[in-house]
This record gives sequence, structure tokens and C-alpha cells, in this order.
Amino acid sequence: MEDRAAGQRVHDFFEVSSGLSPDEALFEAERCLQCKKPKCVNGCPVGIDIPSFIAEIALGNFRKAAEIIKADNMLPAICGRVCPQETQCEGQCVLSGKEKPISIGSLERFIADWERAHGTSVPDSQPPTGRHVAVIGSGPAGLTAAAELSRLGHRVTLFESLHEAGGVLMYGIPEFRLPKEIVRAEVEQVLAMGVEIRLNHLAGRSITVPELMKFDAVFLATGAGLPNFMGIPGEQLNGVYSANEFLTRVNFMHADQFPGYDTPVKRGSRVVVAGGGNVAMDAARVARRLGAKVTLVYRRREEDLPARANEVIHAREEGVEILSCANPIRIVGDTGVTGVECVRMEMCALDETGRPSARPLDGMTFTIDADMFIEAVGQGPNPLLISEIKGIEREKAGNVAVDAEGRTSVPRIFAAGDVATGAATVILAMGTAKEAARSIDRMLKEE
Ligand SMILES: Cc1cc2nc3c(=O)[nH]c(=O)nc-3n(C[C@H](O)[C@H](O)[C@H](O)COP(=O)(O)OP(=O)(O)OC[C@H]3O[C@@H](n4cnc5c(N)ncnc54)[C@H](O)[C@@H]3O)c2cc1C
Repeated sequence: MEDRAAGQRVHDFFEVSSGLSPDEALFEAERCLQCKKPKCVNGCPVGIDIPSFIAEIALGNFRKAAEIIKADNMLPAICGRVCPQETQCEGQCVLSGKEKPISIGSLERFIADWERAHGTSVPDSQPPTGRHVAVIGSGPAGLTAAAELSRLGHRVTLFESLHEAGGVLMYGIPEFRLPKEIVRAEVEQVLAMGVEIRLNHLAGRSITVPELMKFDAVFLATGAGLPNFMGIPGEQLNGVYSANEFLTRVNFMHADQFPGYDTPVKRGSRVVVAGGGNVAMDAARVARRLGAKVTLVYRRREEDLPARANEVIHAREEGVEILSCANPIRIVGDTGVTGVECVRMEMCALDETGRPSARPLDGMTFTIDADMFIEAVGQGPNPLLISEIKGIEREKAGNVAVDAEGRTSVPRIFAAGDVATGAATVILAMGTAKEAARSIDRMLKEE
């Protein structure tokens, strides 16, 4: 797929990559070897029949290809854009060693976009079972569970605390990587399967746990929206944000329509971002688009950056400066941020993740001028609802403990996505949600 020129895209929030044309999609589909034992399918957490949908593209049957994808994945335009295919389906493609793997993600995106432009349809559902499931949270895990349970004939009510459905897809991932219209269109398709949605409903408050327990089953998909902080001096200063807060403000307060919209979001002119994952890259690239000079400070080496390689390339092309082997230790300022003091890091023996553990070098400090500091150093589950549920077990990191089928320690309550795995990926949230939804289905049909 072609990317828009960095010099142009850094001034707006329009999508970075244009999709494939029909001819390009046909060409790409024809490269697929149609393996008898396709490894790509094993690499897909929701198990899409990848060779079959690609075969239909090669024949020009785009609608049939869409039906095949949607039998397993109701969010294909989203996944085609944000999934880390290089470590999943494409990473398993037998062509990866010899030539380029098939661009499965681009083909998935092409089909989803084509279907949206030519009229969508939703998969058939089984006859109603009369059972009613509450799904809490409308991110990818909640949407997938809702669609799967609905397809299996259960009545589903989806509770979402915010005024719009989509979770991180809506309030976290920036418009230039995942346009909101795409998210809205795929949410609509899930709702078209008969799922009822209650927006502005904070489970644990606007609907209590005893009220939830009146449903035949409860599915927790509340994500990992509680940001970690570094715990360094100066975090109380004006101009310090978690990446979550910064990105949510931009997404929900129309800062991505700047300058056409008079947004109240603070725009830094000199921004330091701490972190090295996808969330840090998103925050840095958004700050660049809002006009700031941006330095991303990462404590390990550049080759250890956990963000997708493509995101790092895009960030760099757009002018984000990446400073590796450095770590913020103090935010400088009286009332607002005026700088970020950092220390140089040395790399020591490999830690349990296989990366060198980083250790500060005594006295090797320096200060970067800044009027805004954004921390993107991980996030965990919000305890608001979980702490209201008596007897629910949690892991050390705060996530809800589940078995392989998504069952929690409380009968009839299931959990999947980031609330159960800890912060992960869209497709993993969807894969675990699908498993847990099927487990609910088995429980309800056995009774
Ligand atoms: C900035 C950012 C960029 C990312 N980029 C990528 C990427 O490129 N590719 C990728 O695969 N992954 C990416 N991720 C990770 C991915 O978005 C998450 O793993 C995924 O969204 C998790 O899905 P979920 O459904 O479990 O939770 P979420 O998407 O967090 O959704 C949880 C939903 O539950 C709602 N909720 C919470 N508590 C309650 C309550 N008590 N009552 C009612 N509703 C409630 C929340 O409002 C939210 O809508 C990114 C994450 C972030 C933050």
C-alpha cells in the first residue's frame, strides 16, 4: 500500500496509507499458493479462512470474500488497518522466507472497504435461545463477543460507559491510522446483528453488579484503560499527561480537526514523550500533527523498541526525534512544564523478556526543554467494576484471572480482552472474546 508523503501528512489527520486498488488486490491474491495446510490461519487469533477469501478475490468474487471473512471477524476494516500481521498471519506465510509474504492485512482491508462501498450484509443468526447476556465494554473484545453470542441465538445487551462505542479503537488509536467512520461503520454492523447497546452506562454505577447478575451470563470486556505513571518528581505540573488522556482528549475534543475546529485541547510546542510502544508512537505522531517539535525518550536501545517497525518508520519520517538509552527522571517547572530531566542508560544482562535490562549511568543527566510531557509507560485494568464483584480473582498485575475458556472465579461471569490478558492487541482481544463467547454458549445450551 502507498503512504502519503510525510511532509504532507504531518499537517493533517487523514489516513496515512491508501488501500489497494482492485487490480492490485487481484495481483496480490494471485500470488497466494493456496497451501493445503495453511499456516497463516494458525497465525490468526480469530481463525479467518484466509486461503478461501484470497481465492475468491483472485476470482473477482469480492462479496463472497467478504462473507468468508465476516464468518469469523466482524471488524475486518479495523483489523486490516491495525493488526500486527507481520507477527501473525503474514509472519506464518510460507512465502515470507523466499519472497514477500502475501499482504493478507491489505487484502482484508480492501475487501472490507469494498463491501462498505457496495452495501454490507451481516451473517445469519441461529434461532433465538431465550437467554440474555450482558456484555460490558464495547471495545474489540466486547463487540466480538456481542456479535458471536448474537450469531449463536442469544439476546445481547452491550453496556458502554462512554457516549460512543468502540473502546480504544475510538478514543485511543488516532484518526490517521484508523478513521472513526470505519469504526462507526463496523460497530453498526455488529448492532445490525440484533445487539442492543446502552451507551453512557457505567457498569458498577449506572447498572449495579446485583442487577447485572440477573442476566444469564455476564461478559467483562472493560479493557485496560488505567494508565501507569513513572512516579517521578513533577508529575503534578500543568502539561503532564498520560498518553491515554492526551489521545482521548484529541479524539473526543476534535483536536484532530484542528485548525478547522476550535479545540480546547492544549497543544504543546515542544513535547517529550516517554515510552517506546505503539501508544508512545501514536502520542508522538499526534503531537507532531498539532504542531510540536517532538522527542520520544526510550530507556533501551532503538532495536528494542516494542512498537511495530512500520510505526517507528512513520514516526521518524514525520519528524519525531527518537532518543534511545535515556530515561526521564524529573519534570522541571514551577506550575507548568519547562523541561524534562533525563539520565543516560547503560544496557546490562538480558532480562526475562530477552532484552538488555537498562540501568541509569550515574551523573550522566541532561535536560530537554519542553512545555508538555506525555507518559506512555503501560496501562492496566480499571478496577472500578472489578472491585465491586465479590470473589473475583485477579492476577498480580490487576487483570482478571480467567481459565482457557474465559471463565472467571465467579460463576456466570466471563472475561476477555485486555481486562483479562493485560494490555495487548485488538486481534488478541477479539480471539479471547470469541473463545469466551463460545464457552458462554456451551454453558447456556447445556443448562
Ligand atoms: C493508543 C493505542 C494504540 C493502540 N494501537 C494498537 C494497534 O495498532 N494494533 C493493535 O492490535 N492494538 C493496538 N492497541 C491495543 C488495543 O487497542 C487493545 O488491546 C484493545 O483495544 C483491547 O480491547 P478491549 O475490548 O479489551 O478493550 P478496550 O478497547 O479498552 O475497550 C474497553 C471498553 O470498555 C469500556 N468500559 C470500561 N469500564 C466500563 C464500565 N465499568 N462500564 C461500561 N463500560 C466500561 C471502555 O469505555 C471501553 O469502551 C492500542 C492501544 C492504545 C491505547
